[in-house]
Amino acid sequence: MEEITSVQWFPGHMAKTRRKIKEALPLVDLVAELLDARVPMASRNPELRSIVGQKPRIVLLNKSDTADEAVTRQWIAAFAKEGVPAIAVDCKSGKGLNGVLPLARQVLKDKIAAWERKGMGSRPIRIMVVGIPNVGKSSFINRLAKGGKAKVADRPGVTRGNQWFSIGKGGELLDTPGVLWPKFDDPAVGERLAFTGAVKDDVVDTEGLACRLLLWLRDQYPGRLAERYSLTGFEDMAGHELLYAVAKKRGMLISGGELDTERAAATVLDEFRGGKLGRISLERPEGSL
Ligand code: GDP
Repeated sequence: MEEITSVQWFPGHMAKTRRKIKEALPLVDLVAELLDARVPMASRNPELRSIVGQKPRIVLLNKSDTADEAVTRQWIAAFAKEGVPAIAVDCKSGKGLNGVLPLARQVLKDKIAAWERKGMGSRPIRIMVVGIPNVGKSSFINRLAKGGKAKVADRPGVTRGNQWFSIGKGGELLDTPGVLWPKFDDPAVGERLAFTGAVKDDVVDTEGLACRLLLWLRDQYPGRLAERYSLTGFEDMAGHELLYAVAKKRGMLISGGELDTERAAATVLDEFRGGKLGRISLERPEGSL
């Protein structure tokens, strides 16, 4: 899948993406915005609200298997307060996905009632999924598309090239997701996305990134850090000291007996992303969204 780099999202590309989503909007009843449950803010697109306009929208907090459940619940409440219905999903295992259509139906209840009055009660709900690279759009489509991606018959007025997948119980999903860009001009956003692995490591300084993650864990989840790397007395350690401590505990040495901080950094990042430190949310819904 595509990676987020400053190179990839040049103004022309953003304009094209915006246009493609706007073209597809009249074809759908609802936009499903996929966010990373660990970083619902950092994985948001700054322009989505204006791109989508009045079209009803739901938020799907994906990768919820990796996020802190209590924090995810807080996020769902925070989104609801903003008038955006949200649920937690896990497109890897499929957990929560059976809640997508009922939520869509709930959001569209007035529209569905109008369809029923016109004798169009069996009309399927059409959904477009949007999200930044790596948030799980392909996984979502593959999981929901029933019957091995069976194509729904072409119908008049549907732009050529668009395919619809039946997602069961009166729902159809547009096959091509809207690939959006994150708010990459904010370094804090870039850093949180890099922690989750949404940004390719060879475009970031891995050791620096691991040091910053270790510092964050030191303050937010000290118990997990202590447990995973058998660390003690690290409350006042700086990031690079934490990285040395991890390398030492794991016996990571390079020739000459020096600590292999590069390997330690890659290990910390891999283990964090792989859920080895447990379910961790990097953002909490404090203040407004
Ligand atoms: P896309 O770029 O938005 O289409 O993202 P993909 O569907 O290709 O997913 C990116 C990566 O995230 C893949 O390695 C997926 O296996 C993984 N992924 C997607 N959904 C989930 C999820 O709910 N939980 C976890 N742990 N990983 C997921």
